[in-house]
Amino acid sequence: MPVPKMKVSRSRRNKRSANKNITMHPVSECQTCRAPLASHQVCQGCGYYKGSKILRTKFERLHERGKSRAAQFAAAQSTAQPAESAE
Ligand SMILES: [Zn+2]
Repeated sequence: MPVPKMKVSRSRRNKRSANKNITMHPVSECQTCRAPLASHQVCQGCGYYKGSKILRTKFERLHERGKSRAAQFAAAQSTAQPAESAE
């Protein structure tokens, strides 16, 4: 019968047994976009929680910023055009 050569220290034994009770977190799916999602969390992809809109997503913020920048650009163009046409 094999016999351990050295005593296993308390630290090594406890480190080994620290991983024995690890379980997977339950994963559900978003009701709106069907993305995998941790339960009781807002979906980061679409910003919905249980069918209601909670968050503005990063894509929506970028889209709104792009729209406001386009409006600023159009306003700058409209103010710049009469000056050019007057010359
Ligand atoms: Zn979603």
